[in-house]
Amino acid sequence: MILVSACLLGLNTKYNGESNAHSLILRYCSLGRFIPVCPEQLGGLPTPREPVEIVNGSGQEVLSGRSLAQGEHGEAVTGQFIKGANEVLKISELLDVTAAILKERSPSCGVNYIYDGSFTHKIIPGQGVTAALLREHKIPIYSEEDLTDELLKELLSD
Ligand code: SF4
Repeated sequence: MILVSACLLGLNTKYNGESNAHSLILRYCSLGRFIPVCPEQLGGLPTPREPVEIVNGSGQEVLSGRSLAQGEHGEAVTGQFIKGANEVLKISELLDVTAAILKERSPSCGVNYIYDGSFTHKIIPGQGVTAALLREHKIPIYSEEDLTDELLKELLSD
């Protein structure tokens, strides 16, 4: 089974109540191998919600208590972000998860990049909180931006 950011599968889980439906991923959905997860909802945040960025670091630093996840107007949501990441990890342990396909640049799901915490659209290298926790637990993570038809077929053959 493959964990997939719920918004990539067309679920309206984004902070603004919309989705990031991804046509290539959706093409393989009928195989029944994808598990949609939204760590921010699993952590107890509402939808719609304030946009959030990681301040002073990336997902690894949030997990180790050195950085914060904060809403655009200063709302503290670090606890919900860590809870959501742990819930996703639990799902991956309950089911036979071999990989995760996650939404790039999200403060929860970003695989290679996130925003820098200034809410000025600046992108920095780093992972979101859930992506960092999954990687810590040796679950291979992939950005939807790096997906090709070949890579998806390879992931689905595991
Ligand atoms: Fe999508 Fe992840 Fe954001 Fe949820 S937390 S809306 S799954 S990018």
